[in-house]
Amino acid sequence: MLCRTADLIAEAGASGNGIAALNVITLEHVEAVADAAQATGLPAIVQISHNTVRHHGGDVLPLAAAAAAVARAGDARLALHLDHVEDVGLLHRTAECGASSVMYDASRLPDEENIAATRSAARWAHANGLFIEAELGEIGGKGSAHTPGVRTDPGQAARFVAETGVDALAVAVGSRHAMVTRTTVLDLDLVSRLHEAVPVPLVLHGSSGVEPASLRAAVERGLTKINIGTLLNVAFTGAVRSALSDAPELVDPRRCLAAARAAVSAVVADCLRAVTTQAPAPDPAPTA
Ligand SMILES: [Zn+2]
Repeated sequence: MLCRTADLIAEAGASGNGIAALNVITLEHVEAVADAAQATGLPAIVQISHNTVRHHGGDVLPLAAAAAAVARAGDARLALHLDHVEDVGLLHRTAECGASSVMYDASRLPDEENIAATRSAARWAHANGLFIEAELGEIGGKGSAHTPGVRTDPGQAARFVAETGVDALAVAVGSRHAMVTRTTVLDLDLVSRLHEAVPVPLVLHGSSGVEPASLRAAVERGLTKINIGTLLNVAFTGAVRSALSDAPELVDPRRCLAAARAAVSAVVADCLRAVTTQAPAPDPAPTA
């Protein structure tokens, strides 16, 4: 079923769990997330980045409509989110494409302009019933600002949230985008201090490079939305590569896409379990 991001994040936060947000590129990625959510009985956020929208010719609708349709067709609890949206044109299409939340990324702007742009994006989002996430300063590894040592200052983060009115904040605590090895060390003490200082859910970007045990620890310290992209693509392309090399004469792409979908699903199931540190609340007893 298609859920609202705000509800899944609130539920995760209230139970002390995290919720994984998985970046999807193809329909097979979407199906893999749905399969993993179904198999584990855990909710998930399906997210489409602005870069993926560019890959699909600049229109968010075809992939988003497919993702929303996959969610509506199954029992797994899925929400749809737009990730790293860099212009208001795409921001304003969030609701129409079936997403209930958006990460608006003006972090490439100087701080004062980031605050002003994010505040107006948040006003628009709230007027349209949407949940909005933003980011203060760049998270290392994305785009040209390659800043591995960057860390979010708790005081500055609290001010940013107060001044912009966003519902969730992406923080820099040691992770980086596009990591293909799981060697990232998170600054867990900083996670604790951010959790204490910032009144909205915290989001970890670039989580693919983080060991499951470390993700779990970060969730326990107060991170809630855990964004994972590269890990899925390592599984996807690895499965395609071995399907092709096993059968050099292979023509039908469904053979390698099916292998890719199964590999991504297995990785996503591990991620969903890794961020679920507490047992979900038991179902209420059925009434006679
Ligand atoms: Zn990100």
